[in-house]
Amino acid sequence: MTTDAPLLAPDFRGDPYWWDAAPRPFIQPLPLPPRIDVAIVGSGITGLSAALRLARAGRSVAVFDAGDPGIGASSRNAGFVGRTLKHEFGDILDRFGLERARAVYGEMQAAFDAVTETVAAERIDCHLAICGRVMAARTPRQYEALARELELRRRHLGNDFAMLRGEELRREIGSDSFVGGALLPDLGSLHPGLYHLGLLDRAREAGVAIHGRTAVVALATRRRGEIGVHTERGIVIARDALVATNGYTGRAMPWLRRRVIPFNAFMIATAPLPQALLDRLLPRQRTYIDCNFNVDAIRRSPDGTRILYCGRTGLNVSEPHAIARRLKAALVAIFPELADVPLSHAWTGRCAGTFDLYPHIGEQAGLHYAMGYCFAGVPMGTYLGRKAAAKILGAADGATIFDALPFPSHFLYSGNPWFVPLAMRFYDWKDRRAA
Ligand SMILES: Cc1cc2nc3c(=O)[nH]c(=O)nc-3n(C[C@H](O)[C@H](O)[C@H](O)COP(=O)(O)OP(=O)(O)OC[C@H]3O[C@@H](n4cnc5c(N)ncnc54)[C@H](O)[C@@H]3O)c2cc1C
Repeated sequence: MTTDAPLLAPDFRGDPYWWDAAPRPFIQPLPLPPRIDVAIVGSGITGLSAALRLARAGRSVAVFDAGDPGIGASSRNAGFVGRTLKHEFGDILDRFGLERARAVYGEMQAAFDAVTETVAAERIDCHLAICGRVMAARTPRQYEALARELELRRRHLGNDFAMLRGEELRREIGSDSFVGGALLPDLGSLHPGLYHLGLLDRAREAGVAIHGRTAVVALATRRRGEIGVHTERGIVIARDALVATNGYTGRAMPWLRRRVIPFNAFMIATAPLPQALLDRLLPRQRTYIDCNFNVDAIRRSPDGTRILYCGRTGLNVSEPHAIARRLKAALVAIFPELADVPLSHAWTGRCAGTFDLYPHIGEQAGLHYAMGYCFAGVPMGTYLGRKAAAKILGAADGATIFDALPFPSHFLYSGNPWFVPLAMRFYDWKDRRAA
């Protein structure tokens, strides 16, 4: 990066780019009802997907959030809609056999479909596009592993793909960082801020009461199985409760806090770019992701004017200028031509990892939960939010392979993820070593 190039555009903001078109709504605090059918903690994709189904089934539903609605990862993410799981199809096949691998990846597809169905059925205008995803390999070994994995998925799941080399890859991404890649044509992208606002509008229209700026400080199971929802503004008694707090899970839910590992993810947006430059670097409106464990993810903004970059996950920084500096350096390593381009936005949000790298849904001590999406919560939050609602309703479609899994913790872990930056550097080292 040239040293005299400005890092930040004059109108730089340390908030998500998505909030320009979808500012976080302030909802006037509502009086707390004494009793409700279902209390939901967390107003992100998971909480609202569940709330919508429950309200439409006739339940009285209240959603509580410590901040304004959608203030968590749901309005901060990159908007990639995929079938992403930290376990490869081939690994599950080798360890547990074809039936299980098919069942797990069948649900990844169902989660993807849950987003496209929701957007269509609820008429949410959020730039959803089946744009295709390019997975870019940094080394020949990654390229070969990618080809093997995708071939297995084609054979057993019918997922189409095309391997890309040399000029074919150049036509997709103008960078020397990659030796090859693959195009997965049926994956998509959306504007996460608008997706979340659409869910929020539909939930409110269905009668869901949204209590923003109302942190839940404790959840206590009472006699007859009711739940005492202790909030900053008073107590509400609920027949059922769903915890949908993912990377923001705190002390109010100690059992869950010992099972999810919050980690920071980061994004930047460039200022609007000249069309010719965009056409050289990202000639198409696809999503792009590398094959490392700690991924770099790149896309154009939905209006096609800027590049958005997500990477350096697990860094221990929070100040927007520091995020901008670190992520710009990583972006310029991929696209040296962006060295003199200033950034308009830099932000962070919290995801949740799990010890077994699977998402989890279930019930513990009378509390339902869905969380631990390991970076893929746009489809998984939509899908498991609905599943959690179905379970609360006692409906047959509540079953999922993810509730059969034990939700592991570690005897040394009490909820303080101090080791995440170290773990991510370890994964970076492993990625380099595997090259
Ligand atoms: C930078 C970034 C990029 C990402 N990119 C992608 C992507 O491209 N594709 C993808 O699929 N996923 C992506 N993810 C992950 C995805 O955004 C999340 O997995 C998903 O949004 C989780 O949704 P959720 O509703 O479960 O939780 P969140 O949206 O995080 O909501 C949890 C809410 O719980 C509230 N809360 C917590 N504790 C309390 C309490 N005690 N009382 C009241 N409220 C409480 C919080 O305020 C928060 O609003 C990304 C995440 C980040 C941060």
